[in-house]
Formats: sequence, structure tokens, C-alpha cells
Amino acid sequence: MNDFSTFEFSTIGHIHSCFKQKFTIPRQPGLVPEARAKLVLLTEYSQDETLRGIENFSHLWILFVFHQSIRKNKKTTVRPPRLGGKEKRGVFATRSNFRPNPIGQSVVLLEDIERVGKHIILHLKGIDFLDQTPVLDIKPYIPYADSIPQAKADFASTAPQPIYSVEYMPMAQAQISAASQALGQNLLLLIDQLLSYDARPAFYAETVEKSIFYTQLYDYDLSWQIDGGKLTVLSFSIRL
Ligand code: SAH
Repeated sequence: MNDFSTFEFSTIGHIHSCFKQKFTIPRQPGLVPEARAKLVLLTEYSQDETLRGIENFSHLWILFVFHQSIRKNKKTTVRPPRLGGKEKRGVFATRSNFRPNPIGQSVVLLEDIERVGKHIILHLKGIDFLDQTPVLDIKPYIPYADSIPQAKADFASTAPQPIYSVEYMPMAQAQISAASQALGQNLLLLIDQLLSYDARPAFYAETVEKSIFYTQLYDYDLSWQIDGGKLTVLSFSIRL
């Protein structure tokens, strides 16, 4: 008998994201406008009827599963990074990826719609999803209902501010330009936008003066150094 206390949902498609690791993914959508993903719909949802009219919306809500944050031991509180990782808030008072039902929601820009073989692919920008994220639903963003400019939002009432102006070692800059050509995307702009925020875990900012960091973007390894207030991209090379 169904008492409506548990539900079974199945994915409608998967995300192919520029972000291959959680580290450096923006905290919310829209913060890094150049961050891109493809949402590849499963064949059963890749019918033109399923999406009819979607091209008339500039932005979509994507509902997804935080598939890399599924934990058995559910905590009642989390420490939002915006609060320096020090203060706690109730899990339902945050947008943390660790939550009783690990469901995420993001408003993103719909840039293009493409068919490749049996799949329909939605090209999305300004994303905050990890690669391979399973998607549960897509809904159009409706400004009159979804945008509330005067809304109160505790510690997140204003967008985080970029704090670094990103500098590049000449070799890294050349590697990024070459990769941009290969991918047909402006990776310099993406890296500028991404690293201008302090992506490091909160405790780093206080304890480590000079450090080197690494992440993967698309099929490339990116490394950068933070020395005091200065951020320099050291290298950008294809992942072997
Ligand atoms: N906009 C969403 C996500 C907020 S949390 C919402 O409000 O529901 C944002 C963090 O989720 C990112 O910093 C990233 O590290 C993490 N994240 C993104 N995709 C994920 C996934 N598939 N599994 C686990 N964590 C993910």
C-alpha cells in the first residue's frame, strides 16, 4: 500500500559539466556566467513533444540529485561557507548539498537546444553542477513568481563579491588560449570568473599564507597559486 511517505523518482538525464570535482564549483548558479554544462536527456525524454515551447524560456529550474553528497548519517545543522565555516544553521535554513533528501535546484540560462542521434541536449550556462549529476526535472523560470527582489535572506542577502584579480603565467595563458580554440569556448573568461571568488575551504583563508591549488576543468588540469592577496594561474594542461 502506498502511504505517500516514500517515493521513487528516476533520472530524466545527466549533466556533462565543465566541473569534474566539487572543489571550485560556484556556491550558486549565475555567479560564474561562463560555467557551462550540457544536459543530455535520456532517449525516452528526447522527444520533441516533451520539450515543446521550452525554447521560449531564457532560464530554467533544474532539479537534480546531489549524487556525491549522499550520506547515511544525516546532520541537523550545517556550517555554511559564507559564514566562514564557523557558525551553524539548521539544514533547512541553508542550501547545503548535505540534506535529508539530497535534492538540488538551480536556475540556469538555456543557451541552445540540440539533437545528437537519439538524444536531445540542452546547453546551459551559469551552472553550479558537478559532472554526471543526475537530473530529476526541468521547469521554466517564471520571473513574476520566482523573483522577489525585496526578499530577506539571512547571511546570503547579497551575492558573494569577487576578491581576486586573476593573473596568468605567460605559458599558462598560452595553454588556455590554445585550449579555448580547441573547445570553441572562452576559457580565459571562465577561469577569470571562477578564480576571482575565494573557492578555498573557509579554514584555508586564515591558516595558509601561500599555497598551490589544483582542479580539473573539462579535460584539463588547472593549477594556481595564492600568495597573500595575489592569485596567479600557474598551468593549464590536458589531463593525461
Ligand atoms: N543551487 C543548488 C546547489 C547549492 S549547493 C541548490 O541551491 O540546491 C552548491 C554546491 O553543490 C556546489 O558548490 C557543489 O560543490 C555542490 N554540488 C553540485 N553538484 C553536486 C552533486 N551532483 N553532488 C554533490 N554536490 C554537488
